Amino acid sequence: MSQTQPTVNPFAQMQAGRPTGPLVLGYEVIIGFETHTQLTTQSKIFSRASTAFGAEPNTQASAVDFALPGALPVMNKGAVQRAIEFGLAVNAHIAESSVFARKNYFYPDLPKGYQISQFEIPVVQGGTVEFFLGDEKKSVRLVRAHLEEDAGKSLHEDFVGMSGIDLNRAGTPLLEIVTEPDMRSSAEAVAYAKELHKIVTWIGICDGNMQEGSFRCDANVSVRKPGAELGTRREIKNLNSFRFMQQAIDYEVRWQIEQIEDGKTIQQATVLFDPDTGETRAMRTKEDAADYRYFPDPDLPPLVISREWVEETRAAMKELPRAMAARFRSQHGLSEHDAAQLTCSWGIAADYEDAAKLSSEPKLAANWYINAVLPALNSSDALPEISVYELTSTKAPAKIAALISRISDNTISNKAARQVFELLWSRNTVDAEPIAQVDALIEQLGLKQMSDTSELEKIIDDVLAANAKNVEEVRAGNAKAMNALVGQAMKATKGKANPAQVNELLKKKLA
Ligand code: ADP
Ligand code: MG
Repeated sequence: MSQTQPTVNPFAQMQAGRPTGPLVLGYEVIIGFETHTQLTTQSKIFSRASTAFGAEPNTQASAVDFALPGALPVMNKGAVQRAIEFGLAVNAHIAESSVFARKNYFYPDLPKGYQISQFEIPVVQGGTVEFFLGDEKKSVRLVRAHLEEDAGKSLHEDFVGMSGIDLNRAGTPLLEIVTEPDMRSSAEAVAYAKELHKIVTWIGICDGNMQEGSFRCDANVSVRKPGAELGTRREIKNLNSFRFMQQAIDYEVRWQIEQIEDGKTIQQATVLFDPDTGETRAMRTKEDAADYRYFPDPDLPPLVISREWVEETRAAMKELPRAMAARFRSQHGLSEHDAAQLTCSWGIAADYEDAAKLSSEPKLAANWYINAVLPALNSSDALPEISVYELTSTKAPAKIAALISRISDNTISNKAARQVFELLWSRNTVDAEPIAQVDALIEQLGLKQMSDTSELEKIIDDVLAANAKNVEEVRAGNAKAMNALVGQAMKATKGKANPAQVNELLKKKLA
């Protein structure tokens, strides 16, 4: 089998016209990501052993995973299927024909002595990941995404003076997603990682469980003076939480700048982040691709992906985040930024649409999701792992629709509704109907707006009598004085009047 020239040259177009990010002590920060996503197949990438997490050591490994002599790998179609789905989700090219290669290295958890991966012709080529960083729209280019097998695990804890090997994880299918060095700050890197996490969980190719290692990011970090050549990078391995990711990159950037300012040079290296000290530490000097002696795996024929397969896959996929955001803009009249926020996960997006439908107020529902529901979920750390089921069980759409209906029929003010929301959300009562819950809370908190006009008129008369000077000014055409009167009346009703109604009554009386 012959291999052609690489179809993707990762760095040919690198840096062309990329905007610069915020400088740190006069240095530009450059970040590129390699993310290992574990695919959601039932069985391994080249064997029929199960991929389920947490089994007794070595109970989920077959002859292929143990690398018994003569055992041959057989490609799992489901893994390829998921790679195609990812490629379509990021507008990448799906290779017509792609090749598996042996990446040779020695490690106890890799009994074959090589990892089956892809080198020169990956299955997914190019593509982009787009997201908002605050109000700014960012686009990170992908170099490639390739299929490979995971290695086993060395177990050190349970053995005194010895280490054990668990091959349950060996052969678990991974899609490694590699970016161009396009990111310019730790905040942008985290926003990219969150977006990528959203995409892979949205389309269901990865469960996104970061604690269990289903989504592991390696951050390649370098610094340079603006306009200079790219600096030497160090690779922070296995970042499995968004918080650590930001801390690790921030620490690494400061460390590299210090070294350079001290006149030292940066050595290319692989480093680990220690959450306890908040520092990164070199683990080994980095191998180059040449050190791995990559060559095509003679046990596996080239992977041929027909265009029909790609198109069938495209047709069967659920609405993608980008398409859904575009639809929210045209159908519900939302801004690009709001639509992006509401499509932060499949669960949130589906939930928001339910609330929009139930309330018939898509814009108000969007405001409630963005300003109340998302912050509440964020503060409880539920995002972005939240699933449709977890959200549905909180009845959030019906609760939001109930709140909106009580604002629309003037029972409560917007401000009062926020108070009701806090309790409604934290109590998470699932047995009572949301509208009944909302009404009970309005009663309990005494938030009902004053609807009795005669009572309100009396209060307003008192306010007018007590504020003769303001009344005079309003009659002289001073709009500010009117606001002062509205404020006085609201105060006198302890905020329970409807401000619009107060305004109207005042105007009538002063006309
Ligand atoms: P390898 O395969 O040896 O790890 P690659 O050249 O494929 O290295 O690059 C790996 C990752 O490092 C890519 O995500 C790329 O964007 C990033 N990268 C390359 N050069 C730099 C650099 N100077 N600074 C930061 N990141 C970089
Ligand atoms: Mg790499």
